[in-house]
Amino acid sequence: MAGLSLKHIYKVYPNGTKAVNDFNMEIADKEFIVFVGPSGCGKSTTLRMIAGLEDISAGELMIGENVVNDMEPKDRDIAMVFQNYALYPHMTVFENIAFGLRLRKMPKDEINRRVTEAAEILGITEYLGKKPKEMSGGQRQRVSLGRAIVREPKVMLLDEPLSNLDAKLRTQMRSEIAKLHAKLQTTFIYVTHDQIEAMTMGTRIVVMKNGFVQQIDSPKNLYNYPGNKFVAGFIGTPQMNFFEGTLLKKGDEVEINFEYSEAKITVPYSMMYKAKPSYLDGKSRVYIGLRAESISINPEVVKASKSKIKVRVSHKEELGNQTLVYGDINMQGDGYTESSTRIIINMDAVCDFKAGDIIDAALDITKVHLFDKETEVSILPRIPEYNYLDCEVTNGKIIFLGTELKLPPAIQCESGKYELLIPTDAITMHGSAAAVTVSECEEINGKYVVAFGLGDRRMYAVADEAVKCGKAKIGIDLKKISLLKDGETVVSAMPEIIKLEGKLVKEKVAETVEVNGKEKKKKVIKFFYDIEGFKLPCPDTAATKLITAMGVKRAFTEKLYYECTPYDLSFAEDGIPAGVLNVLDYGKEKFAVCEAGGKTAYVLCEGAVADGAKLVPDVEKLSVIEAAHNIRII
Ligand code: ADP
Repeated sequence: MAGLSLKHIYKVYPNGTKAVNDFNMEIADKEFIVFVGPSGCGKSTTLRMIAGLEDISAGELMIGENVVNDMEPKDRDIAMVFQNYALYPHMTVFENIAFGLRLRKMPKDEINRRVTEAAEILGITEYLGKKPKEMSGGQRQRVSLGRAIVREPKVMLLDEPLSNLDAKLRTQMRSEIAKLHAKLQTTFIYVTHDQIEAMTMGTRIVVMKNGFVQQIDSPKNLYNYPGNKFVAGFIGTPQMNFFEGTLLKKGDEVEINFEYSEAKITVPYSMMYKAKPSYLDGKSRVYIGLRAESISINPEVVKASKSKIKVRVSHKEELGNQTLVYGDINMQGDGYTESSTRIIINMDAVCDFKAGDIIDAALDITKVHLFDKETEVSILPRIPEYNYLDCEVTNGKIIFLGTELKLPPAIQCESGKYELLIPTDAITMHGSAAAVTVSECEEINGKYVVAFGLGDRRMYAVADEAVKCGKAKIGIDLKKISLLKDGETVVSAMPEIIKLEGKLVKEKVAETVEVNGKEKKKKVIKFFYDIEGFKLPCPDTAATKLITAMGVKRAFTEKLYYECTPYDLSFAEDGIPAGVLNVLDYGKEKFAVCEAGGKTAYVLCEGAVADGAKLVPDVEKLSVIEAAHNIRII
């Protein structure tokens, strides 16, 4: 039994295909994780890297307490079940299941015990003496599951194990695998392209597309809070309806206008607090997502609803347990062609209509999903990034929602009205900036999203710990805020990451070593990060990682990006020559703004910095990225 940790995992195949990009995930012991996505999205590659059947190009993979990047598959304590059962045709079922154990020279009694037990769990005891060809597909897959179980692995990996089975058997085996997981109490990782399989089996699902993780969440959360249009469309049948449209703020309300149609609904502005205000200008284009069951043509519901749109119905689909009504919100649309006006409605009551009828449909506005038209990312993120507020700056003070704060010297701007962006992670729940009332604290993927009231607004903070509801005092880290005027940034937040560039170099260095009590001079190879012309000693472990990931030749010729925070840079006698441009005084903290090798670096400092300053990054805190493929290696 073990958990897994995947940190910045990449896979680049020798032909240059980047199959997996920056895969990060912590998998707890006993979880049932499903990797799902369309063919070619990188799910099998990720699974095969976990199994050790494929080299990891960059990143760190841990199973339990061990880094296993370079560990042989047989030593990883995992078992894998494949789509094509891979059974030996000439062996009996018993021998097939026992094969791996015999290779390990396990005592006979123990093999008997394990095989009998596994066969019992899988209900194939009576077939133990038979050959695979005498069995059905489902039974054969049970044998290959048995072969995995007897290994008593820490982690079970299953690569599309049911895709060779017919629909009925698949459904049956689905619940059997779920039962098996409950019984074995082992971590399962299961790969499938079938979203229904994923939704019914996984405790958490990883949705992938083109080698990138799109979202990691529970089935329920993926369905209710898809982070982007791809996830929204991939999860759920029938597929979510997507319309194109614009949003226009009018006082306390926001009008949602559907393109290519007369349809229009109004929602309270409070539903849009998490959205960037620029989305509400009536021009920015968005996708409006609504699931079939969030739309009703039940006359009672329609009568009571304030959010109605006209639909020209075309046909219906009887699916037994539900009836889907197809139509178009464009009165010229045909309801058959998949378009940005076609609509599918889950008919929740007996309704009387015929093709061509124009009827009213009620929308459940609390279930509206909105995505950016270009990036397709949700504009109402579940974990909000910013609070978007109006503010006024006057005499070095900033005023918003009845709160007045003195601006530090680093923030200079003319008096006037501005848009204020306060990142949710810039707010601490213990401070002295303002008194608030916490109304909700929700744990989402290990973070706590805190909703609180300030003045007449709801605001959000993202905290590392749970916060009690009720009165609280917040603090605001002013170096993280931004001020905008007419969409233009007037005061920017201080960058959290400093980017520098250079290469990995090696040199022969003379070292004094002790041999038999005598000092001797010896030449040894040492590695250095060349960063903007300065040679920073690079730990051998880091150099090895770079050489392993990039190959010996490329490791010393390719450009590298170095990243760290302003807290990981300091001034020293020798380092990257830096011209100090100015010092930003945020009160408790001061940061020198430096020009280093054509890049701007921010460095925590005490106050004034003398000319000719030199910068040294903390080598332990440095992230190193291969520039050509944008792969984070360290
Ligand atoms: P999935 O399991 O999601 O269908 P894969 O992990 O098998 O996807 O493949 C991801 C990508 O990597 C695809 O573009 C595929 O063509 C490519 N790929 C897979 N195996 C190899 C290989 N051995 N060499 C080169 N490219 C590969």
